[in-house]
This record gives sequence, C-alpha cells and structure tokens, in this order.
Amino acid sequence: MDYEGFFRSEIDALRDEGEYRVFANLERHVGAFPRATRRRDGAAQGANDDRHEVTVWCSNDYLGMGQNAEVRAAMVDAIETCGAGAGGTRNISGTNVHHVALEAELADLHGKESALLFTSGYVSNWAALGTLGSRLPGCVILSDALNHASMIEGMRHSRADKRIWKHNDPEDLRRHLAALDPARPKVVAFESVYSMDGDIAPIAEILDVAEEFGAMTYLDEVHAVGLYGPRGGGVAEREGLMDRLTVIEGTLGKAFGVMGGYIAASTALCDWVRSYASGFIFTTSLPPAVAAGACASIRHLKGSDAERMRQRAMVALLRRRLDQMGIPHLPNPSHIVPVMVKDPVKCKMISDILLDDHGIYVQPINYPTVPRGTERLRFTPSPLHTEADVEHLVQSLHALWSQCALSRAVA
Ligand SMILES: *Cc1c(COP(=O)(O)O)cnc(C)c1O
Repeated sequence: MDYEGFFRSEIDALRDEGEYRVFANLERHVGAFPRATRRRDGAAQGANDDRHEVTVWCSNDYLGMGQNAEVRAAMVDAIETCGAGAGGTRNISGTNVHHVALEAELADLHGKESALLFTSGYVSNWAALGTLGSRLPGCVILSDALNHASMIEGMRHSRADKRIWKHNDPEDLRRHLAALDPARPKVVAFESVYSMDGDIAPIAEILDVAEEFGAMTYLDEVHAVGLYGPRGGGVAEREGLMDRLTVIEGTLGKAFGVMGGYIAASTALCDWVRSYASGFIFTTSLPPAVAAGACASIRHLKGSDAERMRQRAMVALLRRRLDQMGIPHLPNPSHIVPVMVKDPVKCKMISDILLDDHGIYVQPINYPTVPRGTERLRFTPSPLHTEADVEHLVQSLHALWSQCALSRAVA
C-alpha cells in the first residue's frame, strides 16, 4: 500500500470540504492576557517580520487564571521543591502531596466525600464512563444528544447499551427510562453548560426524572467550574443540586487555567474507579506543579467573586453592543456568545480577516463541530477584556457584516 499517498488523500478530502484545521501559532504573555503574539505560517521563532499582536477572543482560559500570580507562584514553588515530573503512575511512586491536596480541594469544592484526578477532562470522561458502562452489570447509559466527544468515546468503549435522549429534554429522558427494565443499572450522562450553543441543562428536572427511575447521574461541568456558583463549584452549586448528583466531572484546563480533569463523588465510587479504570491506572500522574497550580486556582476562585462578576459584565456588554448593531448571536444564559454566520466559507473568511486585518483572533466553528448551516464565531469575553476591546470587536464585525453581505438581526 502507498501509505503516504493514503494520508495525503485523506487530508485533501478535508481541505475540499473546508474542514481542514489550521492552528494559530500564539505566544501568550503574562500580564497581557487576553493579548498574544501570533506568528504567521512558516515564520520561525526569532524571525521578527512575521509576527503581530492579537486579542484572543476564543480562549477557554475563561477568567485568565492561566496567568494569575498565585497560580504561577504555586507552580514555580512546586517545581523548585518537587521537580518537573511526577515520576510514575499514581500507584507506582507517582502520588505527590500536591495530588492528594488537590483531590481534597476538589471534593470540598463539590461537597462530595472524594475526588479523583485524571490527566485531562477528556480522560476523566472516557475513563469514568467507560468503567461505569463496562463494569456495572447490564448497565444502560442514557446520554444527552449533544454530549461531548470524550463522553461518547467513553460510552462506546464500554460497549454498554446506550439510549440517546433529546438535548435538554427531561420528558424524552423519562420516556427512555420508563421503557427500560427497572432492575437494570442506569447512568444518566449530561452536561451543565454546552460549549457551542452556551445553553444550560435543566439539572433539577433531569434529576427528578433520574431519581424517579433509580438512575445514577453523571454531570460534566467542564464549562461551568470556576464560573458559576458562589465558590465556583458550577451550575449545580449555584442551584443547590450538588448533593443529588452521583458524579460531577470537571476540568482544570478551562476556567482554572491549568490542566487536568477529575470526578467528584462518593468515596466508594471514586475508590472503585481508581481501582478499575485503565485510563487512571496505566498513565503517569500529572506533574506536581500542575496539581499545585490547579489547587491555588481553585482556592482563589472559591474565595473571590471579582473575576466572575467582571466576566459577566463584559459578556453583557458584548451582547448589548451586538444587539445594537444588528449582529445575530444566539441568546443563552451563559458566558458563551455564539455569533451566527451560517455559512462555512464566510465564517472562515471573516475569521481570517479579523485575524489578519483587525488583530482579533476567533476560531471559526464549522461542521462537524456544529451542524451545517449553523456555522459561527464563538466569543468568550473574559474579565480582562476591556470596554475598548469590545468596541473594536463590534466595529470590526459591523464592517465585515456589510462587506460580506450577511443578514442582520431585526431588533
Ligand atoms: C473540553 C471538554 C472536555 C475535556 O476537557 P479537557 O480537560 O480539555 O480534556 C470535556 N467535556 C467537555 C464538555 C469539554 O468541552
């Protein structure tokens, strides 16, 4: 077989569909978030000609905690005292005081007995759902139709029976649950904030239905931890529902600004996943400095509402200005502002012009991440964007909307 030819033809097929991904090469700067230096294609490190300053509008470092002074100090201190890597899997010499402290911090954040760390949110979903689905005898997983790829892969890997219920629809969930053998173990898996539309699940109603049928509940709060609730425990904390959820899953890589994933649940459940999940057992644990940084970030956001309040103000300002300019965006109750272009070619073109001519970086979101015809620019205002940043963005979009003959929203 012509292996190289095969790889190239697969890539060409993506290019033809407009689905080939190009990464922006960014250098972020402490103290300057959300600004970064972008190197254009092919420019080598050190070359001065092909770089320019951009304002990042699509970061999942939602609160700028990746550059927070306490977080950086904790990481530097842990590197200086513990070194670079963990040196092993959790079982074989790789458990550090910082991992243990972080798991206690996470259990406390979610009001659970225990928490268990993974190397990413992706791995936590894949490993936890994979283990539940494969080891609970006769298990059925009931999955929201828009669940994240990491949950879908975990369920697929588990080979458990799966039922997909209509997105955010407790009544459809009820119909599926009612049709199942009451004796079978069931896991209802869903998210709180959905990252592409920015809508929020009716968690209480989903819990009512799940409890009625004796199902376990598994909530991905990846886009909510740090951001919602008085201590940043997520939407379930804000709504007083954490104790009713069996498992809360989160990431340390988005609002907490570092890296890693976790589940928070009962001691027995965490101990069981710790003991049986391949994706937990057979991999080197997070560097101690990463755990220390995440711990500092969580502690900071437990005690400080300032970042969350300022972020909300910037989100509200951006929405208000978009409305005034007639630029269509999805209304939702979260911090995610999807501006709808509804055309893959124009979506990519607008983001290229914003980047090259306006110093605004927002990645176009096209199929297969979102359905065809709903192509969008997904903006995530942070507490560190200024009023002037918002105005520059809105004026740039205004000009491009006319240039590209895109339809306006009617007020
Ligand atoms: C990003 C994401 C994950 C994965 O988290 P990482 O820590 O980035 O691996 C899981 N679930 C959802 C809904 C996500 O958007």
